[in-house]
Amino acid sequence: MAKYIGAHVSASGGVGNAILAAESIGANAFALFTRNQRSWVSRPLAQAEVQGFQSLLAERGFRPDMVLPHDSYLINLGSPDEATLQKSRAAFLDEMQRAQLLGLRLLNFHPGSHLGRISEEACLDQIAQEINRALAQTEGVVAVVENTAGQGTNLGWRFEHLRRIIDGVDDKSRVGICLDTCHTFAAGYDLATEMGYQFTMDEFERVVGFSYLRAIHLNDSLKGCGSHVDRHASLGFGTIGPDFFARLMHDPRFDNMPLILETPDPTRWAEEIRWLREQQTS
Ligand SMILES: [Zn+2]
Ligand SMILES: [Zn+2]
Repeated sequence: MAKYIGAHVSASGGVGNAILAAESIGANAFALFTRNQRSWVSRPLAQAEVQGFQSLLAERGFRPDMVLPHDSYLINLGSPDEATLQKSRAAFLDEMQRAQLLGLRLLNFHPGSHLGRISEEACLDQIAQEINRALAQTEGVVAVVENTAGQGTNLGWRFEHLRRIIDGVDDKSRVGICLDTCHTFAAGYDLATEMGYQFTMDEFERVVGFSYLRAIHLNDSLKGCGSHVDRHASLGFGTIGPDFFARLMHDPRFDNMPLILETPDPTRWAEEIRWLREQQTS
């Protein structure tokens, strides 16, 4: 099976529960938070929890490289504020170390915000330096930068932003990109039409390169193309529309990477995954 599809499932009660949640919706990939995503401090993962996670993952047939942990929303590696940057640095390293400890290969995170106090270029270069710093203290985990909708002062919504971050990272084998389809569309890249799809993918290849693509977040968008508003919609309930997701399922450039639903209604996930799989064979 070339397509690995899942959702961002709950890990409440322990990271192992995410595996069971993913299995229950028919997923062969999943995303999770490995710590409280709204808190700066978090208890370390217990050794028994780590071992339990790794053995359950193998037992239920999930590939460790198809699991995509997402970091805390508080972290801003591009922050112009020294105190926030220091807290972000420590929390980001902890996130990378947790992924490594769990035997995972990827960590998905939002690049950061300049808050109107430093230039875009300075902010992007700072993010790259912070990635270098975390990579030097960990092994085997790829830092996967997620594109954004460009809401507020969030960077990473233009493919050129992603390129500049990659350019600043020393070890190119450990930096990658996660494209969130809602964010891409809200940022102003058309995905709804066949022509838009081709243009956007060509542009991604030209500016960033598919060799850096490590994951996809599969979300429809409540708001329109170029709205810069980050509001996810269930598949078929947004302004991108089902044709796009069917096209993506047929496109081999999205094989062998986690394709993760972050759609707002978890009761629809099993059905959304089933529908996506049907598109592959139709
Ligand atoms: Zn995200
Ligand atoms: Zn996302």
